[in-house]
Amino acid sequence: QIAYVNGSFVPLSEAKVSILDRGFLFADGIYEVAAVLDGKLIDNASHLARLERSVGEIQLALPETIARIQEIQQELVKRNNLVNGMVYLEVTRGADTGRDFAFPKDVKPTLIMFTSTKDIVNAPSAKTGINVITVPDLRWTRRDIKSVALLAQVLAKQAAAAAGAGEAWMIEDGKVTEGGSSSCFILTQDDVIVTRQNGSEILPGCTRKAVVALAEERQLRVEERAFSVEEALAAKEAFITSASLFVQAVVSIDGKKVADGKPGPMTNRLREIYVEFAKATAV
Ligand code: PLP
Repeated sequence: QIAYVNGSFVPLSEAKVSILDRGFLFADGIYEVAAVLDGKLIDNASHLARLERSVGEIQLALPETIARIQEIQQELVKRNNLVNGMVYLEVTRGADTGRDFAFPKDVKPTLIMFTSTKDIVNAPSAKTGINVITVPDLRWTRRDIKSVALLAQVLAKQAAAAAGAGEAWMIEDGKVTEGGSSSCFILTQDDVIVTRQNGSEILPGCTRKAVVALAEERQLRVEERAFSVEEALAAKEAFITSASLFVQAVVSIDGKKVADGKPGPMTNRLREIYVEFAKATAV
């Protein structure tokens, strides 16, 4: 396994950053995860556009151009002979000599990447669907920034794992915001695909964006608005999207079945459409 650290490709076991790195001390950093299918990056332009937006929102200058970052991602995929999986990338404000909260002067940002293997298309949960639990959304109010401050999601997803569930849906003011690491959708009884509108309450999911566009291109009805767990439990179908899952059915929420407790036809159709799109846009 090879990783990338600040300009060098090194064995993962030797890939290190300073204990003074602000990503470590303050979670002062941004990350992205892009899927890899057949050795190619999926919807990567969308991930890199979000990266640029996220770093802009925290006044962090990328240490490399977007074009160069994609080259490094591709080089890492090649060096690891990665066929199916993910490329994780993180950029932090870097390591200074102390622990000042305000930005230090002349600090060089840290850029790291590593890969992991996962057969996303043939994941068993794509066939069976996943169970979710609900938890209060404990996060800060700028969830549109893909920050590495993920403690609330760590606790949410640990609660899900402890309950034998695959994801936690986070709830605020009686409405679902999003999953611990996914965007949430339902299909209403009158066949409207509903997903929460973008804003500072959720991360603008790249997969969410693609699925909404693909559905609209096919004249499927899409509504971007918040929905409650009660509405999800009364829905025809529910599903989640993310770079590392694509589209996956949600078959139960807090132990209650969604419809008949099996992945529904719309979820399966959108998953197929997304896989096709993924292959067609891979770089
Ligand atoms: N929402 C949150 C909080 C996430 O962490 C993620 C991905 O990790 C998503 C949504 C899905 O976003 P994407 O489709 O870009 O992977």
